[in-house]
Amino acid sequence: MTRPAPFDEDQGGRGLPSDPREASLRILHAVDTRSAFSDRLLDGAHQRPGADGRDRALLHELVKGSLRWRGRLDWALNSRIHIGLDAVQPWIRNILRIGAYQILMLDRIPMHAAVDESVKLAHKYGHPGSAGLVNSVLRRLIEEKELIEWPAGDDVESLSVWGSHPIWITERWLERFGPESARALMMANNRPVATGLRVNALRGTREELAARLVTEGVESRPGTLSPDLLWVEGHHAPGALKAFTEGWCTAQDESEALVARVLAPEKNDRILDMCAAPGGKTTHIAELIGDEGEVWALERDKHRVSSLENTIKRLGDQCIHVVHGDGTTYEFPMPFDRVLVDAPCSGLGVMGRRADARWRKGPEVLSEMPPVQLELLDAASYRVRPGGVLVYSVCTFEPEETDHVVERFLALHPDFTLESVKGLVPDAVVTPEGTMRVLPQRDGCDGAFAARMRKK
Ligand code: SAM
Repeated sequence: MTRPAPFDEDQGGRGLPSDPREASLRILHAVDTRSAFSDRLLDGAHQRPGADGRDRALLHELVKGSLRWRGRLDWALNSRIHIGLDAVQPWIRNILRIGAYQILMLDRIPMHAAVDESVKLAHKYGHPGSAGLVNSVLRRLIEEKELIEWPAGDDVESLSVWGSHPIWITERWLERFGPESARALMMANNRPVATGLRVNALRGTREELAARLVTEGVESRPGTLSPDLLWVEGHHAPGALKAFTEGWCTAQDESEALVARVLAPEKNDRILDMCAAPGGKTTHIAELIGDEGEVWALERDKHRVSSLENTIKRLGDQCIHVVHGDGTTYEFPMPFDRVLVDAPCSGLGVMGRRADARWRKGPEVLSEMPPVQLELLDAASYRVRPGGVLVYSVCTFEPEETDHVVERFLALHPDFTLESVKGLVPDAVVTPEGTMRVLPQRDGCDGAFAARMRKK
C-alpha cells in the first residue's frame, strides 16, 4: 500500500484531490494531525479552476459538518468499535467520521454510497484490514441508526455529546447560561454558517449590492442588526463572486459589522486600528467616513499585512495607511481622535464559523489572552487624544476577555470612562452596563463584544 503524501499546505487547498470525499479526508487529517485550518484549505480548494459547484458544496458540507458534529459522531462510533475510536489510526478515524456524518446527519446521500466510498478510501489510506473495519462499523451504524438515542441529560458529559462541544466549553456554558440556553448556543454553533457581505459604501448602497448579486444568480436578505450587511442565501464562496472581486463588498459576519458603528468615526478624524488584518473593520471605518480623513492600520504579522493590503486595494480605499509593527511598542508621533483595539482572543464566540477551533483550544486560552488584551489596551490609551474615543472589541463573550478586561483597564486608567453604545447599535445587543454583547443563540450570528470608552 502506498500512503498518499501530505499535500503542500503552502498551496492552500489547491493541491487537494478533486474527489470531494477524498479531499475532505485530506483536510480533516491535516486539521487533526498538523493543526491546519480547515477554512484556509477549503478556500484554496474552492478557488481551484474548473471546480464543479456540486462537488464544492459537498466538500464544504463534509468538512464543516464532520467537524461540527464530531462530538456526536465519535460517541456513536466509539461504542461500535471494540478497541475504541481513539485506538484507530487517524486516516481511518476520519474516514469513519465522514462516513458516519453522511449516514447520521445527511438525508440526501444514499447509504450504500456513503459506505462504498468510505471503504474505497480505507483501501487507499489504511493498513490491510482497515477496509473491513470501516465496512462493518458503518453498516452497523445504518442498521442501528433509528435506535440511537443521544444522551439527553443536563449533566456535563451528556450535554457535551448532545451539543458536540468539548467538556470544558460545555461546563462553562452550562454554569453560565443554564441548560436551555447552553443547548441553544451549541445548536447555533452547529448549524451551517451563512455568508455575510458588507456593502462597500464608497461604491453604493446595500440595495444596489443586492441588485448586483441578483445578476450573478445570488439571492440575499438584509441583515437585521447591521444596516450595512446582506446575508447571502445558499453556499457561495465570496472570492468567486464578481461583486466581491470588483470591490463592492467584504465578507463579514453581522456581529463584526457592528464594531465600526460602535467606534462611530466622523469625516476628517484621524483614526488608529491597532490590530487591523485582514482589514474587515479598517475598511468599514474608511467607508463610514466616506474615505475622508486618516485611517492608520497597524498589524504585527507580516503575512497578514499583505492580506490587509489586498483587501484595501480591492475595495479602493484611499485614506488608509498600512503600518507593519507591534501595537504594544510602535511609536506614532501624533495622537488619534479614535483608536480601535480589535484584539486577538479565544474566539469562543465564533465556534460555529471556525468549526475546528473548538477541538483545538483548551481552557488555558482564557488565562492566556486577557494579559495580551490588557497590554494592547494600555498601549492604545496613550495614543488617544484628550476627549477622544477608545473601542475594545473581541469575537468572544467570555467574562474574562470582556467585562473583566474593561474593568481592569478602567481601574488602571481613571482618565477613561465607559460610554454607552446605545443609539450606535440596536438595543437588543446593548447590555445594562452599556457595552455591546452579541450572542449566537439570541442574535443568529457570531458572538462578539465591544466597549466604548472616552478619554477625559
Ligand atoms: N480587525 C481585524 C478585522 O476586522 O479584519 C481582525 C483582527 S484579529 C481579531 C487580531 C489581529 O491582531 C491579528 O491580525 C493579529 O495578527 C494582530 N495582532 C496581534 N497582536 C498584535 C500586536 N501586538 N500588534 C499589532 N497587531 C497584533
